[in-house]
Amino acid sequence: MPESKARLFSNGRIASAGSTVLLAADVLVDESGRVAAVAPGLAAPEGAETVDCTGCLLVPGMFDLHVHAREPGQEHKETLATCAAAALRGGVTGLVLMPDTAPPIDTGPLVKSATDLVAELSPVPMLQSGCLTKGREGREMAAFSGMASRGVPLLTDADRAVPCPDLLRRCMEYARDFGLPVASHCDTPALSKAGAVNEGPVSYRFGLPGIPAISQEIAIDRDIRVAQHTGARLHLQQISTARGLRSVQIAKESGTPVTCEVSPHHLVLSERGVRDYNTHFKFNPPLRPAADVEALVAGFIDGSIDALACDHAPHTEFEKSSDFGSAPFGAAGLETAVLVIFDRFIRHGVFGWDLLVERYSAAPRRLVGLEPVAVAEGSRAEFFVFDPEAETEVTRTTMKTKSPVTPFLGETLAGKVRGTALGSAWHRHD
Ligand SMILES: [Zn+2]
Repeated sequence: MPESKARLFSNGRIASAGSTVLLAADVLVDESGRVAAVAPGLAAPEGAETVDCTGCLLVPGMFDLHVHAREPGQEHKETLATCAAAALRGGVTGLVLMPDTAPPIDTGPLVKSATDLVAELSPVPMLQSGCLTKGREGREMAAFSGMASRGVPLLTDADRAVPCPDLLRRCMEYARDFGLPVASHCDTPALSKAGAVNEGPVSYRFGLPGIPAISQEIAIDRDIRVAQHTGARLHLQQISTARGLRSVQIAKESGTPVTCEVSPHHLVLSERGVRDYNTHFKFNPPLRPAADVEALVAGFIDGSIDALACDHAPHTEFEKSSDFGSAPFGAAGLETAVLVIFDRFIRHGVFGWDLLVERYSAAPRRLVGLEPVAVAEGSRAEFFVFDPEAETEVTRTTMKTKSPVTPFLGETLAGKVRGTALGSAWHRHD
């Protein structure tokens, strides 16, 4: 663990969700990990370390709603420790763990043991979510009461839809009574079948089985309708099509308590990224046509998309090296999410840091009942130092995840997370 001492973060500019103005100020964090002062020209107290933040931004720590940390059960892909290291490298200071570990987290005692494991192994707070159905098998409801009493932030079958609408309805009724959101993987298995990429020109050209857009769109419509009927809070994971987003917008206009998330890869990559059968571009839901990407970016900006969530889903390079049809879906995302959004949008002026802080720090925390964090006097230190003039090479050796599989591998992205402050700890990245 980094040594605990007071630190003065000098000469930086502070980003926040509410304002496009970057506040020029020094930030003093005391030994206990509290922000003791925020003001220009602060003097470092005796014994304090000074962190020169000239030219850098101090950004509230991000919070990711969709992370597969693979432990327990699949530690060859990722562990809680490597997942935490990747999160800190990416400026992420809190996250929600998906329950699709081995075994799946579907009872109160399993939530407790997962939570104990996090407390033991992870310097980053991680909230353990619980399954909707027993074993994620989509046949009977999981043990909601026990999981709710252990503090799950949401219920989800993590990358699997609940196929039976009657079961989904009962899950939503119980979730509503426990005051828990249902996070839904929007997919219609009868339509997706063994699809590997978006159904369309790319699937035809590559001779790969396609996943049609309606597979997600029908599921979005169904889940919204069941949520309206039951009064449950619904969170739609990994929105990927314009038509699906339109359904969310219509539901929101009618006052339905529905929220949704989008991944960085769905905001910046289209199905055209799927070249040379590169399995690093294989996602579920799949990358879509450029028109969908444009609609998602517009929805991200106008707020019809509530949150950014990276769907950190590490698989080993060996697993990803099989043929495109049989390789698993997903890639590592925690340490590239902020960089990708900065590189593709913020530095070009498409939107500002305030929007990213709202969508990736404040909104996701509110969604699970946490207070948003800010770089402000009296609050616990929870921010990262970002250098917009530096660059980050995304390579196997620079990445902290155990499975450095990402569509951005080999790219040099603009910006660099210099370090992450979390309480009294300062995780400096060289
Ligand atoms: Zn996922």
